[in-house]
Amino acid sequence: MPSDRKPESAPSIMAEHLRYYAELGVAGFSTDPAWRERREPGGAVSQPPGAGAAQPEVVEDYQSAASDTPEPAADPAPAADVHTPAGALASIRADLGDCLRCKLHAGRTNLVFGVGNPDADLMFVGEGPGADEDEQGEPFVGRAGQLLTQIIKAMGYEREQVYIANVVKCRPPNNRNPEPDEIAQCEPFLMRQIDAIRPRVIVALGKFAAQALLRTTDPISRLRGRFHPLRDAEVMPTFHPSYLLRTPSAKREVWEDMKKVMAVLEDGRR
Ligand code: URA
Repeated sequence: MPSDRKPESAPSIMAEHLRYYAELGVAGFSTDPAWRERREPGGAVSQPPGAGAAQPEVVEDYQSAASDTPEPAADPAPAADVHTPAGALASIRADLGDCLRCKLHAGRTNLVFGVGNPDADLMFVGEGPGADEDEQGEPFVGRAGQLLTQIIKAMGYEREQVYIANVVKCRPPNNRNPEPDEIAQCEPFLMRQIDAIRPRVIVALGKFAAQALLRTTDPISRLRGRFHPLRDAEVMPTFHPSYLLRTPSAKREVWEDMKKVMAVLEDGRR
């Protein structure tokens, strides 16, 4: 866990966590320490995310890295090593540049590239930025984002330990659904992000993310709850946090899906 986190023994913090879990429909907890061990390929047992180990490098803001026209630098920084996940992500962001590839560019304040740990085992993919995300240049920071953050915490992770991105990187006007041509333009960049990060599990949040990643028109109700292979990862489609805000009873199903994700991340088995 990050060293600047407050100890979780404080009763108020514990109560807050229990409330998250209750909201998610979690009925019980395991005190067995074995659940926190993760078996690496080759048999070694590693610690749970963040436990004791050095914190992963967090790449939070590609926006400032590539979107402004820079003054010619007297002493330019060396190019990022594209063979590292962080370097590859920086290169993808640079390739996007001040993107004009689809009509969504006209209404954006910020292109929302993605945020989190370039070495994440767990990645979340949403649909596209809303008003808050467009304003801040970061995915899932509005109400739905706060619920996603609760889900991530309930899974035993900090937001900074996972990677979060969207299918389309610019806000659709009035939060309308992204259109096929917009998805088609943005999707190669999402795939490159996935190839750079090489997560073990990708949680597809809602219909658009699941259908875009899995190249299907199947409804989310049929796709969710089971793993689908993609590249080196397993995709778990589940309901979008915005849907959960409208339909809190569906949190229970999302939590069932997240338990399957946790099981894969904890022991590499399905
Ligand atoms: N909904 C999404 O799908 N993505 C965001 O970043 C925010 C809300």
